[in-house]
Amino acid sequence: MSVFRDPALLQRAVDLASSFLERLPDRPAGATASLDDLRRALGGPLPDGPADPRRVIEELVSAGEPGLASTAGPRFFGFVIGGAFPVSVAADWLTTAWDQPASAYVLSPTAAVVEEVAAGWIASLLGLPDDVSAGFVTGCHTANFTALAAARHEVLRREGWDVEARGLQGAPAVTVLLGQEAHVSIFGALRMLGLGAATAQRIEADDQGRMNPAALERALAAARPPIIVCAQAGNVNTGAFDPLAPIAAATRARGAWLHIDGAFGLWAAAHPGLRHHLAGIELADSWATDAHKWLNVPYDSGLVFTAHAAAHRAAMSLTAAYLVRGAGEERIAMDWVPESSRRARGFPIYATLKTIGRQGVVDLVDRCCRLARRMAHRLGAHPSVRILNDVVLNQVLFDLKPSGGRDHDTFISDVVGRVQREGTCWIGGTAWHGRPAIRVSVSNWATAEEDVDRSARAILAAVDEADGSQARGSRLREG
Ligand SMILES: *Cc1c(COP(=O)(O)O)cnc(C)c1O
Repeated sequence: MSVFRDPALLQRAVDLASSFLERLPDRPAGATASLDDLRRALGGPLPDGPADPRRVIEELVSAGEPGLASTAGPRFFGFVIGGAFPVSVAADWLTTAWDQPASAYVLSPTAAVVEEVAAGWIASLLGLPDDVSAGFVTGCHTANFTALAAARHEVLRREGWDVEARGLQGAPAVTVLLGQEAHVSIFGALRMLGLGAATAQRIEADDQGRMNPAALERALAAARPPIIVCAQAGNVNTGAFDPLAPIAAATRARGAWLHIDGAFGLWAAAHPGLRHHLAGIELADSWATDAHKWLNVPYDSGLVFTAHAAAHRAAMSLTAAYLVRGAGEERIAMDWVPESSRRARGFPIYATLKTIGRQGVVDLVDRCCRLARRMAHRLGAHPSVRILNDVVLNQVLFDLKPSGGRDHDTFISDVVGRVQREGTCWIGGTAWHGRPAIRVSVSNWATAEEDVDRSARAILAAVDEADGSQARGSRLREG
């Protein structure tokens, strides 16, 4: 069909995408369209026949853009989002155009070798053992799942149980120990693995969210193998690191498996000045991280590493008559991820690392951390703001004190709503020790000092406005 062969189509898409990226720094940080707006603009019945693809793309852009948050922009500080280096976008476009299903070697030898090379670079950057196995997954949630599947395999194998063949029916009970502040995706992974979210034993954490290693040691002494321990490098609220060295020592002494969830925090291991936060990282059995957060490649990019290639492969590998394997020396991507056909995720990571180099990763981490401290400094100067965390990484967590004894929780959500609507920057609410708080995450290469200063002014203006309007509101109620 000729409508599918428009030579100008892809160029048009490049122009529209480039225009979006040019406008990105000045767009409102949040989406501006309402749910109803978007349903009206994008909905309607499935068309009966073909349409001009160029028009379809143009309409997708015009109807869809108001519903796009500027997550890749320099003043989006919600969640932990990252950005996308231009070179990573370029490599991602090629990944799409090449359309390689990176499952079997024969389908894309280039994708397989690029993954092999990129995995080696990252292992060296993060100081992981040389011979780690690696999987390129959709994100850190899936990385946690994959690592814990390998863990489940290995700790049960040591008890003489083949979980791949027999499942968990009749298997020795697996004890899972994790910090009070473990990320929700760990629980998602445990659920999918049949290990249960509520049966995991939570180890107490300190005021920054760091697991208490002495409490872990006590729990390990009381637990019966098989045991899996999940630690965290980079708390989503405070950026704090669990003390990995004593955790690893205690876990090893008990013959248990140590997994580290380091979705963004793991990248601090590349920074000579921050590496001490991750002392002991190399002693773990598995690691999960994201490339789409702090490495600033486009979405759909997480990484899992293990020190137990055989367990990793046993937990993931698929075999079928038509899946012919070679001499066993080439990388078969589907041995390492819970997917078969998938996007060739290695290309954007490879191109990014090749462009910025080791020093570029250090500089990125360094700049984000410096800007987070700057933000904390700017915000903390206001009498209503209290910074709740030691800003050791890229996360700033803060609380607000409304003047005149007004309701704290309403005040927090009022300020967050005002900042989001005003649009200079985007910050999100969270809960810390059971109380609403606000967090700022700096994780984008494009964020500059000026962005932090503008955003701090916008946030503090929202605090003052909310304080003023709440004061007027309570005077009205009193009067
Ligand atoms: C974001 C995050 C995850 C989940 O990663 P996805 O990329 O969203 O799948 C897991 N753990 C931590 C600590 C995170 O910050």
